[in-house]
Amino acid sequence: MVLRAVDFGESDRVVTLLTRELGLVSTMARAARKSKRRFAGALEGFAIIAVEVTIGRGALSRLETARVTRVFPRLLSNLAALDAAGALLRLAREILPERAPEPDVFDCLVEALELLDGGAAPRSLQLCCEARMLSLTGFAPMLTSCVSCGREPKVFQSAFFSVARGGIVCSACGGGPERIAGSLRQALQEALEGAPLDSLASMPDAQVQEGERLLSQFIAQLLQHEHRLAKRL
Ligand SMILES: [Zn+2]
Repeated sequence: MVLRAVDFGESDRVVTLLTRELGLVSTMARAARKSKRRFAGALEGFAIIAVEVTIGRGALSRLETARVTRVFPRLLSNLAALDAAGALLRLAREILPERAPEPDVFDCLVEALELLDGGAAPRSLQLCCEARMLSLTGFAPMLTSCVSCGREPKVFQSAFFSVARGGIVCSACGGGPERIAGSLRQALQEALEGAPLDSLASMPDAQVQEGERLLSQFIAQLLQHEHRLAKRL
């Protein structure tokens, strides 16, 4: 799957791939812009492609061949679905390390593209898929018990939520700046635990929006933290 392709020099492109076997792989596609035949439109994105890659010692591997094996035509003609798919591919690129296989994340993204192509509600699907990707990569927010003392709120009970502390915080431990409704907390927890990607489709719009707001804050903080760590290393 092509996560990103950017022009490089006169005729090349740097292509970030998510592969099922090797995880994230950054490649150089030589003459990708000159020879249309060589990659036959396979680097446009939002498709499943078959590639041959020569893994080198450097940061960039060499993309030898690429051909499309599966397309999602209805997804490509729906702006809202494209937005959701784009956000999911971007998240994969941002949270996955290079060359560490994450087949479950790959499968989750393929499933998301399939569902979007089949007409699934884009925003609730994006929210559910983001939650699952966070969970699969070990970055899930803690929603079942207080991050500090471990106390568990009742099922469907609302809770304080703190992005900075990584999950819900009970009032005895200081609470948090946000409040997460019990039904949203429950739905997100089920998404973290692998509920079907279209399971949030019946959720009211306002709650999807609230979930998007909380999760995007959480992801932004996570990426900032990762970025700082990477700088220090
Ligand atoms: Zn507590």
